[in-house]
Amino acid sequence: MRVLLVEDDVEISRRLRASLEEAGFAVDQAFDGEEALYLGETVDVDAVVLDLGLPKLPGLEVLRRWRRAGRNMPILVLTARDAWTDRVEGLNAGADDYLGKPFQAAEVVARLRALVRRSAGAGSPVMTLGDVTLDPTAGSASVDGRTVELTARELRILTYLMHRRGRIVPQSELMDHVYPMAEARESNTIEVYVARLRRKLGRDCIRTIRGLGYRMG
Ligand code: CA
Repeated sequence: MRVLLVEDDVEISRRLRASLEEAGFAVDQAFDGEEALYLGETVDVDAVVLDLGLPKLPGLEVLRRWRRAGRNMPILVLTARDAWTDRVEGLNAGADDYLGKPFQAAEVVARLRALVRRSAGAGSPVMTLGDVTLDPTAGSASVDGRTVELTARELRILTYLMHRRGRIVPQSELMDHVYPMAEARESNTIEVYVARLRRKLGRDCIRTIRGLGYRMG
């Protein structure tokens, strides 16, 4: 799952990014409103963390413009402490959830997971498909009850495919949601990771639909 993190405080952004990556998200960062607006309109992200107090363009304005342009990704806004008017305005402008500063990174991660889960139409945090079970919170998967160790990147790929179960996911889409912009992309790496996932989870868990992409379920 790919997240756009919009926060102008470099230190807060750095710490939040580390927590999100540890939780299995691919993270793109923006440090002002204009950069955020551009990235949110051009990059296909699964969720956004949006600070409202931003240079160049206020967060609320960014939010309104995204929604007006039909961007419907889940958005968690970060507001100043006790600024209840910010929270109300944020929700009215199309935010899905909010968190007041100062916040715990763990709470940002938990709320984002819930938002992504709901936007994929799932209620339970644990996803099961056939004999494969994925627990994104614990960062682990199991097959027939046997725990399987996954690397961070394998986890990202499996999480994305399970959220899109029953749908064909083109390799390019998978790449977009697994790699943030700052990381180097190599075209064959998705195939390599899918092959590893099949070895760990069973050959048939991820199907290749020739010329179109991959599908689970
Ligand atoms: Ca700020």
